[in-house]
Amino acid sequence: MRIIAITNQKGGVGKTTTTVNLAAALASQGQKVLLADLDPQAHLTTSLGHDPRKDQVSAYEVLVKGSSLDECVQDVRENLALLPAGMDLAAAEQELVSVVGRETILRDVINSCGRPYDFVLIDCPPSLGLLTLNALSASREVFIPLQPHFLSLQGLSQLLESVLLVQRRINPELKISGLMFCMYDGRTTLTTEIVRDIEEFFAEQRSGESPWQNIRVFETRIRRNVKLAECPSHGQTIFEYDARCHGAQDYLSLAGEVLAMFGGAAPVKPVFADDSVMQEQEDAVSDEA
Ligand code: ADP
Ligand code: MG
Repeated sequence: MRIIAITNQKGGVGKTTTTVNLAAALASQGQKVLLADLDPQAHLTTSLGHDPRKDQVSAYEVLVKGSSLDECVQDVRENLALLPAGMDLAAAEQELVSVVGRETILRDVINSCGRPYDFVLIDCPPSLGLLTLNALSASREVFIPLQPHFLSLQGLSQLLESVLLVQRRINPELKISGLMFCMYDGRTTLTTEIVRDIEEFFAEQRSGESPWQNIRVFETRIRRNVKLAECPSHGQTIFEYDARCHGAQDYLSLAGEVLAMFGGAAPVKPVFADDSVMQEQEDAVSDEA
């Protein structure tokens, strides 16, 4: 079971979009995936077509009421299960304030879960509070979605340091394994410069004793694609909404890299039978359509 926190304390960088669609891509390849929505905004839950107000049991019950994962998880698609966020999740941080071991509740719950998942992907809120801490304590890996803008890099070193602190104090197995660029538009010079700088920075870390030496920048760039912004309002993953668009291709390609990273699985199959369109679109750089 690969437990991965998808985190960045900045909002709007592509965490939720990546969590949903990477999970859907992995599920399309036969991987059994659990999605955990730890953001009180419940965007992940909504993106999958679930109303967070109606869900009876959610991550709140797991964290605060001591419910088991099996009680709260719902099967939402083939190979895809969801631990939803409810509106009450926002209260969890306050309610847990005096609970001993409050940072590791999710870890304990996942460890005692009866169902065998191949992947657990945890969508984090845009902060470094208790909910994110629970995600980082439960995970083996951290994926960081980044928007290649100057300002979106400003919080990166703080995030790297925070993860290092969690690794030292709570979860020695934790490592940041991947950084992916989302909403990528290769037509602007600034974008390509920022991407190159970041790649060079992490390439330099590989030698020596740097705590960042295992961080890889995924080769797949998630291009800006309006379909990715549209599909949550339909409660659909990108593969349900438009399996042929760039967004779907990019998340499938990212899933291929993730599978290869964890032991060289079979090549990623397209999620639709006729892949001729995929071939035609392969060379395009950006797509707003
Ligand atoms: P976060 O979870 O980090 O706050 P989201 O995944 O919710 O970020 O993305 C922020 C907004 O950008 C959402 O409206 C989402 O639909 C949109 N978005 C995310 N990725 C892309 C993309 N590659 N192309 C276009 N829009 C995107
Ligand atoms: Mg989000």
